[in-house]
Amino acid sequence: MIPFNKPPLTGNEQQYVLQAMQSNKISGDGYFGKKSQAWFEKSLGCIKTLLTPSCTAALEMAAILIDIQPGDEVIVPSYTFVSTSNAFVLRGAKIVFVDIRPDTMNIDETKIEAAVTSKTKAIVPVHYAGVGCEMDVIMDIAKRHDLFVVEDAAQGMMSNYKGKPLGTIGHLGAFSFHETKNYTSGGEGGLLIINDERFSHRAEVIREKGTNRSQFFRGQVDKYTWVDIGSSFLPSELQAAYLWGQLEKVNEINVNRLEIWNGYHQAFKSLQDSGFVELPTIPTTCEHNAHMFYLKLKNIDQRTAFIEYLKCNEISAVFHYIPLHSAPAGQNCGRLDGVDAFTTSESERLVRLPLYFQMQKEEQEKVINAVMRFFV
Ligand SMILES: *Cc1c(COP(=O)(O)O)cnc(C)c1O
Repeated sequence: MIPFNKPPLTGNEQQYVLQAMQSNKISGDGYFGKKSQAWFEKSLGCIKTLLTPSCTAALEMAAILIDIQPGDEVIVPSYTFVSTSNAFVLRGAKIVFVDIRPDTMNIDETKIEAAVTSKTKAIVPVHYAGVGCEMDVIMDIAKRHDLFVVEDAAQGMMSNYKGKPLGTIGHLGAFSFHETKNYTSGGEGGLLIINDERFSHRAEVIREKGTNRSQFFRGQVDKYTWVDIGSSFLPSELQAAYLWGQLEKVNEINVNRLEIWNGYHQAFKSLQDSGFVELPTIPTTCEHNAHMFYLKLKNIDQRTAFIEYLKCNEISAVFHYIPLHSAPAGQNCGRLDGVDAFTTSESERLVRLPLYFQMQKEEQEKVINAVMRFFV
């Protein structure tokens, strides 16, 4: 069976995890944790980054940092993972779902402003498949209505919008290092990206259970105490050590994924030209990270048959999100603004093909040949 995903492994992770284990400091913010954060701050050119146990945790920190209060509204695309909404619902927010664009599956920036009310506090764009949302338009709306922008860049590490890394354009951003993402910190992990100086100090406090322990360790205060709300938002040093092995090979992973992605795109152009499928669109403003290769088929019935057909050919292909506005919790916690012109219909057509670091040429050929046989 060709799996849908294999967690990336470059070779040095074992050695670094072992080194961390032997260091007698395996809680958060140790040698590899600090090294990884410094690496991100330099490569992203942002004010501060903090490793977290997950992207979900980073989004939860963002919701606390922008001070979401019960009744506040947060604008989110309906086509996303539950954490994009949950993090804000946990602080009492009502979610206002907005339709997506059919070309990128990202939030339709032209439908955001109509969803803004006097209660709106934030917009949370999701960079689906590591392809950037139309951030200039989104930042302009936010500025004019005095809103925060939290980028769910879970899939977006190493992608750019107009030359700026995803996650560094909004006030706050979040990456995921889950095993299904391009880079992993040993299965679970995330990063909070801080692009606004106002959040820098408080983010450290919230992450350290509401204490000023980070300042204490830097010798800036002589004892540490409870100063704010907070939780345990630090990953262990073992996770950071695993991640460091991947950061050292960041370009190798990116180049390899892009080659595979381009291989699929080349191979299936003819299917698109003949009208059998639609391929992902990468706007000229975006440089992507090959997080995902998907096809869009005619409808859900054809997709079900296609996934079943590939399974019989020992290939694991999968669909993706069920629109949140139609999910039970989504209906309880929010509402759809405007119409569902594309969210449901486009999501039902989408199927993701196997794509992982060091996917073998023969594996990819097998997938390509099987897909071609289904249509022609
Ligand atoms: C993976 C993902 C998340 C959650 O990431 P975790 O690290 O598993 O918490 C959130 N949002 C999007 C868009 C994702 O793809």
